[in-house]
Amino acid sequence: MGFRVICYDTLIKNGRIYDPARGADMIGHIGILEPNIAAIIDPEHIEGKICAHRVIDATGCYVVPGLIDGHVHVLDGAWFNFPPERMFQRGITGCIDLGSISWPSFNRNRRQCINDFPGTIQAALMLTVKAEIGCAAELWTELDEEVSLDRLKECFEINPDVLVGIKILVGRNETPTPQLTHAVFSKAREVCDAIGCRLFAHIANPVIPATEWLPYFKPGDVVTHTYNKGNILDENYVVRAEVWKARENGVIFDTGRGSRNWSVEMARPAFEQGFMPQMLTSDLSALSNDPFTSRLNVHMAECMALGMGFKDVLYCVTDAPAKLMNNVKVGLKVGLPANISVLNLKEHDVMFKDAFGVESKGHTEVIPVATIVKGKVMFDTTCTDY
Ligand SMILES: [Zn+2]
Repeated sequence: MGFRVICYDTLIKNGRIYDPARGADMIGHIGILEPNIAAIIDPEHIEGKICAHRVIDATGCYVVPGLIDGHVHVLDGAWFNFPPERMFQRGITGCIDLGSISWPSFNRNRRQCINDFPGTIQAALMLTVKAEIGCAAELWTELDEEVSLDRLKECFEINPDVLVGIKILVGRNETPTPQLTHAVFSKAREVCDAIGCRLFAHIANPVIPATEWLPYFKPGDVVTHTYNKGNILDENYVVRAEVWKARENGVIFDTGRGSRNWSVEMARPAFEQGFMPQMLTSDLSALSNDPFTSRLNVHMAECMALGMGFKDVLYCVTDAPAKLMNNVKVGLKVGLPANISVLNLKEHDVMFKDAFGVESKGHTEVIPVATIVKGKVMFDTTCTDY
């Protein structure tokens, strides 16, 4: 065989290629020919010569499957939405918009925000047409008039490729009476069953106990904001038996970090009892855009500080949310879409602050270094010039 030269569109060099869900952990290079991963290269065994139009030097960094955030607000309907193109600087390549809008503005939003967006945006529709109010008590004033099963169903029929479920908000603020809380859950259950989709429920210290709200959940449904106060622990800070049971039955418990719904005083004992989240999400929105709150990378480090390993944290921001989405393939493998995040796990003392102002310490900072989406470099701080 003669001397071979291969020129990639992009080459990520010398990083720790880390994709434990598919058994990859090696120092090496990833060659990209848009939009896919073309080669995973062991530097000790390069035949001939490789080059690229663009090189990212990932020395000392982790090269992982592109991060996916399973709870964000980026669709341009909610007044508090976050500009989706700025997700790339957080290492995020795909996301689920969780109920920022409902059926009346979905088709317009799809055309404006989803179809031509470089990354992957899928969505859950808010149950009520009052979605754009956000998290407020006025959300559910005329439940029967506000929820149209026919219109929601039609929207799912038109958009089965990007819609993943129905979102509700339940809590002391959004559903202040037991009657309203049950009414919202009953309506959501009816609609999800009729459409055949997942329920995503924002749970924030509801006025009814977990024994009364958990029965509305079926396997595959998602509880978001799990570690808010008043959700899963009893008065002795013990994870309630029915919460464990729901998880065994397939209900998914997600962090939904955000600015108001994460309590380290709830998360720490739950983690210590082994009740780790199955999905880490940032609840990214313009409302909570500061260095402590809705940053997926900061939240990953925050969960590592509470005892989760990087391997598990990574699974919770890649494979776990991808499983809730349509046709999203995750992994560092030849032939898969080149959705890749380069992360620097910097070891030093870090301080976190939860939604209630409680500070905690960790020893790892997770810093996004570069983000590649479908083979295109969307974010790169390495300034590699060779
Ligand atoms: Zn949210």
